[in-house]
Amino acid sequence: EVDWFSLASILFLLMFAPLIVYYFIMSCDQYQCSLIDPLIDLLTGKKHLSDIWDKTPTLTYRAAGIYALWVTFQVVLYVFIPDFCHKFLPGYVGGVQEGAVTPAGVVNKYQINGLQAWIITHVLWFANAYYFHFFSPTIIFDNWIPLLWCANILGYAVSTFAMIKSYAFPTNAKDCKFTGNFFYDYMMGIEFNPRIGKWFDFKLFFNGRPGIVAWTLINLSYAAKQQELYGQVTNSMILVNVLQGIYVLDFFWNEAWYLKTIDICHDHFGWYLGWGDCVWLPYLYTLQGLYLVYHPVQLGTANAIGILILGLIGYYIFRMTNHQKDLFRRTNGNCKIWGKKPEYIECSYMSVDGTKYYSKLLTSGFWGWARHFNYTGDLMGSLAYCLACDFEHILPYFYIIYMTILLTHRCIRDEHRCFSKYGKDWKRYTAAVPYRLIPGVF
Ligand code: NDP
Repeated sequence: EVDWFSLASILFLLMFAPLIVYYFIMSCDQYQCSLIDPLIDLLTGKKHLSDIWDKTPTLTYRAAGIYALWVTFQVVLYVFIPDFCHKFLPGYVGGVQEGAVTPAGVVNKYQINGLQAWIITHVLWFANAYYFHFFSPTIIFDNWIPLLWCANILGYAVSTFAMIKSYAFPTNAKDCKFTGNFFYDYMMGIEFNPRIGKWFDFKLFFNGRPGIVAWTLINLSYAAKQQELYGQVTNSMILVNVLQGIYVLDFFWNEAWYLKTIDICHDHFGWYLGWGDCVWLPYLYTLQGLYLVYHPVQLGTANAIGILILGLIGYYIFRMTNHQKDLFRRTNGNCKIWGKKPEYIECSYMSVDGTKYYSKLLTSGFWGWARHFNYTGDLMGSLAYCLACDFEHILPYFYIIYMTILLTHRCIRDEHRCFSKYGKDWKRYTAAVPYRLIPGVF
């Protein structure tokens, strides 16, 4: 059942999320990243909406060509090149892997080759930048707004296709969720794991590539633009590239783990993931680098080191917390957490076909400190990216504000779902680990 608050939020996002992305990118393009100046201009009548719109670059054949080539290249890497990284990288889990059990009791197989796609893409990027010179490394920045229109076209096309597909030829009809509310279904998705053929999985493809592979390339393009404009790359830009680069590489190194996260295990595929991965993620997660092109901040050594330490500690907490849960679940509790046997709560649940399953909730290690300490680490890292941009403008701080809202909402949403899944066992767990994100506070 869709409550009025969820429906209102969905309608708001469907109408305003594309405008929010446009506003942020336009304010950098036309107002040096000031979020206030466009509003002042509009409110005082100095400018009309049409003036801003007229100055906005339109869709170009060049951008359409670049984008089509980019997405096609990522599809080829995803579908046609089976993983070879796991054959020579010790500790890396790639190749064919199983996902979690879906509510209908299906276990999907995935071809995990994201790290390989990331490496090939970046090797080609650097080969071009330093040797072939087919195109300028500033190509992404130089076409940023025309590419935005392409990303929107793909985002809407894939979400609409996913909706039609869920009625016409669903991959697994038993895992479809119809609420009867068109807007909710369009936004949150109907099909659980839509696929084309055996291997092309919409969720895995759209979240990882083109979205996350692009993230580091976009940042590199911003760094190249700084070099072109100012003759140097600032330490803040290097920090943003390095910290976000670690986050992206971590994602691909742990792509098999990603199969066990909420995106894959619980969310259905609709506009939220389809458009979000094509537009929201590459455009808004990279705002710090974009800002630094317009405002090249050179941090003092102490500040730069402080930000680096914050980012690395945040990353460590994020990774270790996720690792502890993954290890615990993979070994069914036969492992050590912080050198000791893990503590946990036994729980059970039913799938829709009435089969009873058993599971365990970890209550030691970071999972004994708070129920989502992985989010806390993620938030510390996110704050570090923003702090690298100094305090002159609010725009680069969008990321930490957004991540705080996203992860707090996600935490509440997940707990609601876990409570419906585990019932009284979940209550025993929340009694054992009473805080969500910050021990003793929240
Ligand atoms: P989690 O990895 O925390 O997964 C939550 C699920 O884990 C629950 O639904 C439950 O699933 C299981 N679980 C919960 N508590 C326990 C426990 N104590 N022991 C064992 N299993 C438990 O959440 P996400 O998938 O949201 O996040 C994964 C990571 O991705 C996080 O670090 C997050 O910060 C990051 N992330 C980043 C985003 C970004 O945009 N940058 C967006 C979203 C997430 P089950 O039904 O199996 O019991």
